[in-house]
Amino acid sequence: MDPKPFPQLTQDQENELKLNAQQWSLSNGLVMYPPNFESFQTNVAPITLFPTPIPRSSFQQAIKVQKLYNELYINLITKNKSWLIEILKDLAKFDPDFTGKLFEIYQKSTTEEILQPLSLGIFRSDYMIDSKLNEIKQVEFNTVSVSFGGLSTKIGELQNFLNSTGFYDNKYNFKYYDDENLPISDSISKIAQGLAQGNYYYNDKQDNTDTIVLFVVQPNERNCFDQRLIEYELFNKHKIKSFRATLEEIEDVITINDDKAYIKSTMDEISVVYYRSGYGPSDYEINPTKTWNSRLKLEKSKAIKCPSVLTQLSGSKKIQQLLTNHEILQKILPNITNDDFKELISTFVNIYPFDDSELGAKAKELAFEQPENYVLKPQREGGGNNIYKKNIPDFLKSIPEKEWGAYILMELIVPKTFKNKIMRNNEIYNENIISELGIFGNILFNESTGEILENENSGWLLRSKFETSDEGGVAAGFGCVDNIYLY
Ligand code: ADP
Ligand code: MG
Repeated sequence: MDPKPFPQLTQDQENELKLNAQQWSLSNGLVMYPPNFESFQTNVAPITLFPTPIPRSSFQQAIKVQKLYNELYINLITKNKSWLIEILKDLAKFDPDFTGKLFEIYQKSTTEEILQPLSLGIFRSDYMIDSKLNEIKQVEFNTVSVSFGGLSTKIGELQNFLNSTGFYDNKYNFKYYDDENLPISDSISKIAQGLAQGNYYYNDKQDNTDTIVLFVVQPNERNCFDQRLIEYELFNKHKIKSFRATLEEIEDVITINDDKAYIKSTMDEISVVYYRSGYGPSDYEINPTKTWNSRLKLEKSKAIKCPSVLTQLSGSKKIQQLLTNHEILQKILPNITNDDFKELISTFVNIYPFDDSELGAKAKELAFEQPENYVLKPQREGGGNNIYKKNIPDFLKSIPEKEWGAYILMELIVPKTFKNKIMRNNEIYNENIISELGIFGNILFNESTGEILENENSGWLLRSKFETSDEGGVAAGFGCVDNIYLY
């Protein structure tokens, strides 16, 4: 079945839609800070005016494999720890300034006495839908600081409001889409619930509202409302307070007493440390001594980390490449059914290492002979780090060959394009867009024994960008927040 076309509105109708979308967004927190902002200023987040079509079967598959992915990464961290550590040791050598530093934190924080075996993951698996196969293909698995769970719920609510009040209908005030085809992501409530579960388990399975959640954030975060929406839900629904601090501030505002972490000024005890920072080198470069000390201080405390440094490192691109190997996958998920196994591997595209293996030789050949079908990725998160298509050969030639091992070569996924409308500031752009579907998952587990205590889906995110841009970062200015129209 083909999706319905996008609504066809007159210029007057589009202007009215725009104003209504802007005012709804400002009233309901679908917002971001503008560049160089003052704290009282805000801007409507970049969004699509209409939802983008996603095949229902693709969406359902992405939802279905999420718990398997959650389990895969947890089994890797817990039951295959020594294997993981050997790989991370190698990666640390290639990238001593960042991966190496994180690994050092892991080593320094691992003492004989385990203060806090429990660990929380709030993950997001990102996919594009391959246009030829019509299958979801994984772009990457994120294990740290996943964003847009807040704004995703909001854009779903906005587009449902616009649809239900008739703004998508060019004749009457009818609903253009059926309600059941415009689902709203429950990511705000689910991510908040994940943090609340962390608090509950920290307090020996008691609903204790005296302990709080620490949000570790970046200074001058433009996407802070996405985080605030989760904080307010955590308080409104679970009565759990939160406290925000940057990595640089933590050294001064947090104190450790009897291994427990407290906010110095109030002596509120921290149950969960939730990182929305700390995933890239720039988060530490501000003040390396202080920021790395902060990370170590929190890592060594009794608070539950979301994520622990080892969980964060498991999300590296190199690990994603290794997990596409079927034998490795089978070993990490020994009890998986054949159907689940097939479903999981159908989400992979080919990813190659740059090492001395047979696959490595293939990578070197492909990178130079058909770079237009590939993206080259270093061990970095957060956008803006990849090398695309025809830039790959020159880039590789520009670095010593012994450094190639730090990269992976990934097949490019070619999704369908749609002519949706993007609203950014006061402008409407009507260009071909491509979309990336992110599925959130929460998992609470025992890092020592591998026992999984909670494993849940926690909503989704659709991000779209102009077809012409390689990267998809919303805050970085390349993309926008979208929602799904199922067909
Ligand atoms: P980061 O950790 O920086 O977010 P990603 O692996 O998610 O790195 O890549 C950034 C962006 O590049 C993605 O959001 C996507 O738009 C694009 N991209 C990455 N890998 C692929 C791929 N295999 N095919 C198509 N686009 C990709
Ligand atoms: Mg990404």
